[in-house]
Amino acid sequence: MSDVEVEVESAGLKVVDAYDLDDALRSILKPGEMVRDDQGRRHRLPRYFYEVPSYEAAQSTRLTTHFGLNEFLLTDLKEAQRLHEFPRYLPCAVRLLAFYLQQFREKVGASVHIAVNGGYRSPSHKLVQNTASPHMWGTAADIYRIGSTILRTKESIERFNEVAEDLSDEVHVLPYGPILGRNADDHVHLDLGYITLIPREISEDRMEQPQENRPRFAFEERRRKERRAPVAAEE
Ligand SMILES: [Zn+2]
Repeated sequence: MSDVEVEVESAGLKVVDAYDLDDALRSILKPGEMVRDDQGRRHRLPRYFYEVPSYEAAQSTRLTTHFGLNEFLLTDLKEAQRLHEFPRYLPCAVRLLAFYLQQFREKVGASVHIAVNGGYRSPSHKLVQNTASPHMWGTAADIYRIGSTILRTKESIERFNEVAEDLSDEVHVLPYGPILGRNADDHVHLDLGYITLIPREISEDRMEQPQENRPRFAFEERRRKERRAPVAAEE
């Protein structure tokens, strides 16, 4: 690659196989383990994560034009203590969620704000209570505010739920109501279901992949290429 811009760009986010993490992290993230949802159906937890090395990296890495990595990492004391320290971990499927949220943002034409604990929740998060939720897959977002509208009324939640559902059959929302996990009455819950993403940068054969050569996914590099595309077309 001869492009100077790409050379000065950050090296991207490391993709890690959570089976390779230390014991404490593995027991929190539970890669590959099965969890039941509230209907008793079993789902396998994600195994591949982006490793976010620092607060600065979380702040500066954009997944899409309007969504940064940090927005999916906002948690309070309900999350396991170890996950408040960097490096932090996000299931790779979060990039699909960001793509759909970006489409959603374009449809509503206003800023979309994700709540604290409203992005990724580990299987050890207190709100999870051993029940599978797409938040544990990094494929769900709780949106508490859109533009200047705080989502606390049936009318506003149902209106934006409809926008979300119209995006794609993949998008699922929780109907307005009071039952925790089944309903939402102070946010719009949007999810893509139990998607696990196996990054093309990784080899799934653990025997063949030396630890030192962990692959990286460069969000920034891809975005730069997209920005340059219209200019290239004119030439
Ligand atoms: Zn939710």
